[in-house]
Amino acid sequence: MCRREELLGARTRRNPTPAPTRVGLTLAAEPIDLFDNDARLALPYRLTAMNFDEEPRTHELRQRLEVFMDEHIYPNEDRFFSESMELGPWAVWPVVEELKPLAREAGLWNLFLPDSDDGAGLTNLEYAPLCEVMGRSHLAPEVFNCAAPDTGNMETIARYGTPEQQARWLAPLLAGEIRSAFAMTEPAVASSDATNIESSIIRDGDEYVINGRKWYTTNATHPRCEIIIFMGKSDPTNPDRHRQQSMILVPKDTPGVEVIRPLPVFNFYGMPDRASEVQFTDVRVPASNMLLGEGRGFEIAQGRLGPGRIHHCMRLIGLAERALEMMCRRVQHRVAFGRPIAEQTVTLERIAEARIAIEQTRLLTLKTAHLMDTVGNKQARREIAMIKVAAPNMACQIVDWAIQAFGGAGTNNDYGLAAMYATARLLRLADGPDEVHRNQIGRLELRRHADKGPVEPRTTYQAHWAEG
Ligand SMILES: Cc1cc2nc3c(=O)[nH]c(=O)nc-3n(C[C@H](O)[C@H](O)[C@H](O)COP(=O)(O)OP(=O)(O)OC[C@H]3O[C@@H](n4cnc5c(N)ncnc54)[C@H](O)[C@@H]3O)c2cc1C
Repeated sequence: MCRREELLGARTRRNPTPAPTRVGLTLAAEPIDLFDNDARLALPYRLTAMNFDEEPRTHELRQRLEVFMDEHIYPNEDRFFSESMELGPWAVWPVVEELKPLAREAGLWNLFLPDSDDGAGLTNLEYAPLCEVMGRSHLAPEVFNCAAPDTGNMETIARYGTPEQQARWLAPLLAGEIRSAFAMTEPAVASSDATNIESSIIRDGDEYVINGRKWYTTNATHPRCEIIIFMGKSDPTNPDRHRQQSMILVPKDTPGVEVIRPLPVFNFYGMPDRASEVQFTDVRVPASNMLLGEGRGFEIAQGRLGPGRIHHCMRLIGLAERALEMMCRRVQHRVAFGRPIAEQTVTLERIAEARIAIEQTRLLTLKTAHLMDTVGNKQARREIAMIKVAAPNMACQIVDWAIQAFGGAGTNNDYGLAAMYATARLLRLADGPDEVHRNQIGRLELRRHADKGPVEPRTTYQAHWAEG
């Protein structure tokens, strides 16, 4: 199979080729060939026409989602914040459980799972505007069973799990009956480089024995968190550093799994993230719990993190939209030095910059979603890395401006801005720090120009001045 066929073969079942008859914002009317013979761009994919029209089904889903947000999510946010504070990170928060059946009845459930009959079957591009709407509220994602890290974990088990693993864990996760965690990061080593991780997964007869300490394991304190996807080393001496790791399913109630403590995020516990520290001591699980096979942990991480990352970015666009909306409403009604704060030039500048940044980030996110749907997550890795840097930084800046516009009120949680900032800021670290993604983007950019040699000076220009 030639490279072109191989790449085209990566298209998803649901989005085989962009339909040429669709209208809308079409950034490339004809497919542009970006590989093989195009040394100018030298990208590993063929960029096809990007059409950001909402399909009728997505449009209808978004409308219903917005109605649900108005009727059930926004009016319950106050209660959600109180319950998360009063009941804490070890508890189920009743408001979430009350709203989940309503969302399910409304058909607003598992909208995230692309290319699958288990979810709504939307492509990443179709899911983007819906995920953005959910990102407007901290309460929303879990209510629609679209919250991290469950979504990434469900995708992992859907893609790489055996039918038995799927029946045992994916089915209750899709039903929203249980929750899950993903344990990769370790306190003892710089885990932004996942080859550093030291936890062990050692085969012993029909079982694996697991040891290690993890932290920032989101969800582990949740009483309904029943399954942990654990990443550790099964072959630490393998000369290929990317074949040393495996991922394995660890039921949380297995002897030896101890959730040590919840970790605060900017002093918030449980919300916006149930970050936790977990100790695994001689934990034994059946060998059949291994995902995909020994030594394939990195391969799974690549597949898992792409969708997880783009979902964060989609939600952050919604979060930034909400912060900007709040800022615009506040500054028009708050008067300082004889006029509304909105009339200060600096405020107008910030509002304009915020609007520009949101639009830019949304376009890049949609382009990334389009590529993931058409050429696959691996080929879209440059764009995934770019949005993973762009979206949290954009959201941090906009929430920061909103906090400034609210004055002191922006720093407490009466308006939810402090939690919004915590969410945006933590995502400059979670799923990989900015620097690591920037390094990857930089390296890929250098690779595009690696064979071209150094830049030669313009000799005619030099000659002109020499003569002069
Ligand atoms: C709220 C929250 C939730 C999280 N949820 C999960 C989860 O569910 N499961 C999970 O496994 N992990 C989770 N994480 C962990 C997260 O993925 C890690 O914190 C992140 O990958 C960084 O790893 P580290 O903390 O070990 O930082 P380190 O690896 O120690 O890095 C520290 C800093 O060094 C710098 N640095 C690192 N590499 C480079 C480089 N190549 N170039 C330049 N600078 C560099 C960066 O500034 C980086 O922030 C979560 C984190 C947070 C904050």
